[in-house]
Amino acid sequence: MTTITGARMNDDIRLTLTQAQRLRELGADPIELERAFHSVADRDAAFKRAEDDLARAGRQHLGELRERRRAPQLVELELELRRTLIDAGFVQVVTPLIIGGEALEKMGVGHGHPLRQQVFWLDDGRCLRPMLAPNLYTLLRRLGRLWSRPFGIFEIGPCFRRDSKGSRHLNEFTMLNLVELGLPQEQCGARLEELADVVVKSAGLREYTIARTVSEVYGPMLDIEVGGAEVCSAAAGPHPLDGNWGIVEPWVGLGFGLERLIMAREGYPNIERAGRSLTYVDGVRLNI
Ligand code: ATP
Ligand code: MG
Repeated sequence: MTTITGARMNDDIRLTLTQAQRLRELGADPIELERAFHSVADRDAAFKRAEDDLARAGRQHLGELRERRRAPQLVELELELRRTLIDAGFVQVVTPLIIGGEALEKMGVGHGHPLRQQVFWLDDGRCLRPMLAPNLYTLLRRLGRLWSRPFGIFEIGPCFRRDSKGSRHLNEFTMLNLVELGLPQEQCGARLEELADVVVKSAGLREYTIARTVSEVYGPMLDIEVGGAEVCSAAAGPHPLDGNWGIVEPWVGLGFGLERLIMAREGYPNIERAGRSLTYVDGVRLNI
């Protein structure tokens, strides 16, 4: 054990915290950050090379954005999902970002509910929507008076939560919520999985797993996970909350986080790179 003391000492030469932080921000592969070096000089030279390479790749990416793509991943994904769902017969809706407190109560998020702590409240008792479901429930009922069955609607837009800041949570993120109303109940389970597959593939992801969980709001749910991270929660009704919204038919609903989908597809270790930001543009750190 002690015969390899020399090697073990060398093993202790790692990137400094500042160096590792810098490379992480620039998008280095997390495995590279764990490397050991033979000497401090070696390490510093490797750090400089990696920093230069990542900065060059970032500038190239921004060059392509300016010359060719002209819209960031988040917008491209939104357009792609929109096209897919419209082709699948869904109708897009756009609803208010500001909702009433009673809408959350009708979602079962009343006083004492954990999600309540995460809501951005405005002075007048209204709030920035933490989810799209209340608005979509309302439109399902109103359109349901006018449209034949089954029919589907979807919204893609910002949601807001005071989620404890971690590598997978943003205070403002982009939700896709699609719902379909009035299909035969025995078809709901298969339809849910079919729609999950359509959206995940449209987002450019190949591999995913389906996990069965229990949500604070909806009870039994399906979570779609990529690399162990949740990208979607989905549920099928009838559900006890439906009565609050005047819904009496079977439905399926899926809520995806677009930044989570991008994070999973691009292999980003941090969701900040995929979201609304003044520090990153299209996943590229700007201080390069
Ligand atoms: P988590 O357990 O990861 O915090 P959740 O179960 O609270 O997520 P849902 O209410 O199921 O989230 O919302 C549907 C989807 O919206 C999630 O699967 C995720 O992709 C996305 N999402 C939720 N909260 C955030 C957030 N703070 N930042 C980014 N995406 C989020
Ligand atoms: Mg969830």
